[in-house]
Order: sequence, then C-alpha cells, then structure tokens
Amino acid sequence: MTLAIVGGGLAGATAATELRKQGYDGPVVLYAAEHHLPYERPPLSKGFLLGRDPLDRMYVHDAAWYADHGIDLRLGTPVTALSPVDHLLRTPVGEEPYSRLLLATGASPRRLALADESGVPVAYLRTVEDSVRLREALARRPRVAIAGGGWIGLEVAAAAREAGCQVSVHDLTDLPLRNVLGPEVAQVFVDLHRAHGVEFVLGARLSAAALTAADLIVVGIGAIPAISLARAAGLQLANGILVDERLRTSDPDIYAVGDVANHGHPALGRVRIEHWDNAIEQAKTAARNMLGATEAYTRQPYFFTDQYDLGMEYFGHVGPNGYDAVVIKGDTKSAFRAYWERHGIIVAAMHANDWDASDELRASIGTESKR
Ligand code: FAD
Repeated sequence: MTLAIVGGGLAGATAATELRKQGYDGPVVLYAAEHHLPYERPPLSKGFLLGRDPLDRMYVHDAAWYADHGIDLRLGTPVTALSPVDHLLRTPVGEEPYSRLLLATGASPRRLALADESGVPVAYLRTVEDSVRLREALARRPRVAIAGGGWIGLEVAAAAREAGCQVSVHDLTDLPLRNVLGPEVAQVFVDLHRAHGVEFVLGARLSAAALTAADLIVVGIGAIPAISLARAAGLQLANGILVDERLRTSDPDIYAVGDVANHGHPALGRVRIEHWDNAIEQAKTAARNMLGATEAYTRQPYFFTDQYDLGMEYFGHVGPNGYDAVVIKGDTKSAFRAYWERHGIIVAAMHANDWDASDELRASIGTESKR
C-alpha cells in the first residue's frame, strides 16, 4: 500500500511522522512543491524576519530524518494532476500510483490589486523567500504601509518597528482583530501598537492615497486555500476542501488537513482553521485514519502570537454565534487572562504573558462562567 502526501509543509511532514510512529513500514511518498525541507511558518513574521531564528531551527526534521525513516521526500516536485478513479497522481516527471492520499496543500496569500497596481514595491508573506526579501527591504528603513490588521499584518508591524521603520496599518474595519477577539481585547492589541509608534488608518479614513504614499506596502489580508488540484480532481469544495469529521474528502481514499481543509468539526460545525496547531494535530489524526482508524477530529482550536514583548495563546473558537460576555482577569497592560462566554459557558480563552495559564485555559473551554 503506497501512502502519498501532497504538500511538504507542517501538516504534510507531521503526517509522514505519524505514519511511521504508528508502525506503518510500507512506502510513504511526500511531494513538496518548495525546495526547502518542510518547515514551520510562524517565525517568518517574527524571529526569522528579524534575523534572529535560523532556518534550520524551523525545519520539522533535518534531511537525515527522512532518509532514516524511509520517507521518499520529493522536494521541488509539485503534483500537477490527480485521478481519484485510477489512484494516480502526476508530477513533472511522470505518473505515480497511490493507495491512499493526503492533501496538505496549504494556502497562499490573498492578493490586493490596488497594491499590485500602485507602482509601490509590494510584499506578501508566506514562504522563506518572501520573508528574506521583506527582511532585506526593512533593513533599508522604508516607510511601511501594512494593508490588513490581522495577525500577520500586526506581527509584521511589530517587526518593522523593531527594525526602525515608520509603520502604518490600514484596515477596512474601525478596530483590527475585532472579528476575532471582540472589541475589549482587540483594543489591547491596537493600544500596544500605538504605544510602539504604529499609526492606524482605519474604516472611513482608509484611502488608496494613504496606502500608496509609503515606500513599501506589505499585504496581509488573508489566505486562499490551495484547492486547484482538488478541484480538477472533482473533490467537493466549499471554502477549501470539504472533509468530514474524520478528515476524509468526498473520495473515500483521499484525506485533507491543515489550512486547506474545511472540516466538519463535531462540536464547532464547519471550520477551516489556519493555525500551526491545527496543521499538526489534524495531520496526526488523518494519518491514523489512513491506516484504518475511524477517529473524529474533535480538538479545540489553538493559536499563539508574539508581538513586541507580548506573547499570547488562544484556545477555543467563538464562532458565528458570537459571545455575550468577556471576563478579563489581570492587567491588560502587562499580563492577563480573558474568557469569552456564551449563555454562561466559556467558548474561548486566552492569556497574554501569563505562561502558567495554558493548561487552565484549555481545560476551561466548555465549562461554566468565570464571573
Ligand atoms: P502550508 O504551511 O501552507 O504548507 C503547504 C505546502 O504544500 C507548501 O509548502 C506548498 O508549497 C505545498 N504545496 C501546495 N500545493 C502543492 C502541490 N500541488 N504539490 C506539492 N506541494 C504542494 N499559526 C499560528 O498558530 N501562530 C502563528 O504565530 C502563525 N504565524 C504565521 C506566520 C506566517 C507568516 C504564516 C504564513 C503563517 C502563520 N501561521 C501561524 C499559520 C501556520 O503557519 C499555518 O496554519 C500552517 O503553515 C499550515 O500548514 P499546512 O501544512 O496546512 O500548509
């Protein structure tokens, strides 16, 4: 039985690891479009961007690990077509069979035509090459305008300030991160950036002229799931590749995980989660299911960010039904915990600079109010 994994990112490499951990000793082929060993992306907007974290610390495994574990790692080899009926996939060098397949193709940055057509240098951030280019650009101390006040936009804002650049963040909303954190905690992040000298151009004040007055535009307006292969193969799609609670696509021999997968979560409904932890944990579950298990993926989402001296972790998912109360404990200027509640039950929780809190916060999801 040949198990194939398309996508040499965090999810793909973790799935290969789990297959071997489970004792599977047959052929495993990992197809990776990029030429780097599979690596973790979070440092691309943080330590690696600032030149602090070396690339080899971002690798999921070193090269020897793949050889030692008999993983047939095909770097620089994009899968260009897939035939579920014949159980074949195509690469630039030929056709290859598979028995079961995992799609872990990730996502790519959403483009902003206004920036692309402005004549101002534009940066997007997804790969090592993107991050190296941005680091070199920041070293010239440009006036940086960041389109999009989401996580990547704000992390780049922090890095650009640390690199000594003048920075403005431009966002369609009146309050960046409001959709993710609600106004109470979103304001903490905006205040943090203002205290570090970042200017915000928001809502009604947003204008093309303000954005294109910069020397460099960094676009961080979200990511689009990499579905072209799945679409051409006729798999069911909807904001990503549709997978059931066991991470199986509409084809019983094909699974999908990570940023590209729109998962039917037993407790949360349909979710496509673009976070590091989700890529790891979904990959482990899918690998076991490819070997015959029938596990539902039930884990609550988790993510983290680092900006200036603030490190945060967030557990749970507020979702489309929202929350009716947020309880904040501690000092939002230094260290605090926050709990989002709906009908007296905690649906999400986070901490900032309170690293002992992680276990308590994770365990609090689904329990009664902290008020
Ligand atoms: P990816 O990492 O996108 O990997 C997919 C891989 O598949 C890519 O290498 C791609 O080239 C390859 N591929 C695509 N199509 C094909 C094909 N046809 N054939 C072969 N290969 C193919 N998450 C957090 O929780 N915290 C953070 O602080 C954080 N910071 C981030 C900072 C940045 C700059 C970025 C970009 C992301 C960040 N994330 C963070 C999100 C996290 O990195 C992603 O959720 C994670 O990378 C998803 O892993 P993945 O394997 O699903 O996809």
